[in-house]
Amino acid sequence: MTSAEVSDQDIWPVVIVGGGPVGLALAGDLGWRGIRALLIEQSDGSIYQPRMDLVGVRTMEFCRRWGLVGAVEASPYPRDYPQDNIYLTSLTGHELGRERFPGIGAAPPPNQSPQRRERCPQNMFDPILRAFVAAQDNVTLRYRARLLSFTQDSEQTTAVVENGDSGAHEEIPAHFIVGCDGARSLVRETLGIAMRGNAVLTYTTNVIFRCPHLVALHDKGRGYRHIFIGPEGTWATIVAINGRDEWRFSIIGSAEQRDYSKDEIADLIRRAVGRDFEFEILSVLPWVRRELVAERYRNGRGFIAGDAAHVMSPTGGFGMNTGIGDAVDLSWKLTAMIEGWGGAHLLDSYSAERQPVGLRNVTEASGNLKRMLSVGKNPDLLDDTPLGAKTRERVGREFSETMRREWHTLGIHLGYRYEASPICVPDGSPAPPDDPRDYVPTARPGHRAPHAWLTDGRSTLDLFGRGFALLGFGATADDAAPLLDAARQRNLQIRFVPIAEPDIAALYARKFVLVRPDGHVAWRDDAMPSDALAVIDVMRGAALQEPARKVG
Ligand SMILES: Cc1cc2nc3c(=O)[nH]c(=O)nc-3n(C[C@H](O)[C@H](O)[C@H](O)COP(=O)(O)OP(=O)(O)OC[C@H]3O[C@@H](n4cnc5c(N)ncnc54)[C@H](O)[C@@H]3O)c2cc1C
Repeated sequence: MTSAEVSDQDIWPVVIVGGGPVGLALAGDLGWRGIRALLIEQSDGSIYQPRMDLVGVRTMEFCRRWGLVGAVEASPYPRDYPQDNIYLTSLTGHELGRERFPGIGAAPPPNQSPQRRERCPQNMFDPILRAFVAAQDNVTLRYRARLLSFTQDSEQTTAVVENGDSGAHEEIPAHFIVGCDGARSLVRETLGIAMRGNAVLTYTTNVIFRCPHLVALHDKGRGYRHIFIGPEGTWATIVAINGRDEWRFSIIGSAEQRDYSKDEIADLIRRAVGRDFEFEILSVLPWVRRELVAERYRNGRGFIAGDAAHVMSPTGGFGMNTGIGDAVDLSWKLTAMIEGWGGAHLLDSYSAERQPVGLRNVTEASGNLKRMLSVGKNPDLLDDTPLGAKTRERVGREFSETMRREWHTLGIHLGYRYEASPICVPDGSPAPPDDPRDYVPTARPGHRAPHAWLTDGRSTLDLFGRGFALLGFGATADDAAPLLDAARQRNLQIRFVPIAEPDIAALYARKFVLVRPDGHVAWRDDAMPSDALAVIDVMRGAALQEPARKVG
């Protein structure tokens, strides 16, 4: 789109800064909801080094909603490539332990979701999201457009954007601006939002190298992640980044900065493989592993999402998945404001709901790093002696046990809940434990409305996304009239969905369950509230929760 066309639009409802996975997901979701948005990205969209590769179960559920599952499953990562995590002294050395996982294509989805997690590295996943954005007529995606600065007042924001080709500057007005502009977010800085936590965990160096025949050089077979443990402890990893010929070698490092020459890097790759061999270094990326969460995610008409709001260790693969959760939470709230049915407190609920999830996931990711580095020194680890063998057996056993927590994280992906949300109406039921490993399905307000298969073959999740859904178990639309009428009075669409399946009724545990556009439960009860308008007003952020608590 040319700048002349842009200036034809008097004001954009939403300007998104940053076209990484989170900005793309937000732009796509807004477009999918019928909202006009402009996404600006300073680069040309090429991925220099793919970072993320784990698309978690919840993100896949959003992909299901957006119609992207087929594209993810068809991405070039080989679906029969074993996903084993292997702990070893070198590829040709001792195997200390292994957590076996089949290829993604052979792993069934967990019972609690219609989707499985996927392995789809960023250079394959971003283009899928980009195509999703391109399919939305009302979203404009401009590459080589860099935010230089922006201001806001009570009416609008005004961004100054530089065209990377012509160098021209342009002022772009919008009702809302969202910074999905990564860890060094200019949007966050301009909003005056501080990051809290630990600014340096490690100085790490990632190296992508090409070696088509690496697997033939050793006896460990195909694996996804290889964690290398030496006498000094855990020192490096190699990840099968495309399941074929490209590998990501990561020198974990420490809190002390250290630069490596190409020769040093090549020596360390040979150390990890345990022999000399031919390979080509494609890229080297030194980066800092951090543990930071923004003190809040909003200031006025400006918001932050994704790495702009939380920066975490990649141990666990939570970063992008957490960011896409931010995007889905924010998107329907911006939609509500733009369409005119959102109340004065709705946008504040974004921070209230998502910042605790950011803290939780950042903390778990750092815990995973600590566990990975917990091995400590074992001077006799490589010794060809009975004592050396005993040490290897102990290290392997203890490490395998310790690492299991990082590989089984259904609780992280599905069990997050909006406990202190100002727009959910608590029903007084106790919260199930928030365990990173185990997810306990519940339709308690604030939680993700659980998945169950309907007799027609759809998932309950297929009922959610476009507007609110009021599920009725053994109830008719007439029974639900008070809430449906109250919603109509506030120009808010609620679809009534009767559900006959008794097992789903037992899972949802109340006669009526109201599910928000992001798939989280806002309210549930066995009877209609005596003041249905009060419930609707809490849910759309027009009233604080207390009155609804009394009527709920
Ligand atoms: C080694 C590694 C492995 C990882 N693995 C996983 C994983 O398996 N799963 C997972 O969920 N996460 C993983 N992560 C984390 C994940 O990569 C990030 O959380 C994710 O990329 C964040 O997405 P984002 O869109 O918020 O930010 P980014 O991907 O950083 O994108 C920000 C975008 O904003 C643009 N931008 C910045 N400033 C401006 C400006 N002024 N104007 C215009 N554009 C601007 C940038 O060019 C960039 O494209 C991993 C990270 C690392 C380092």
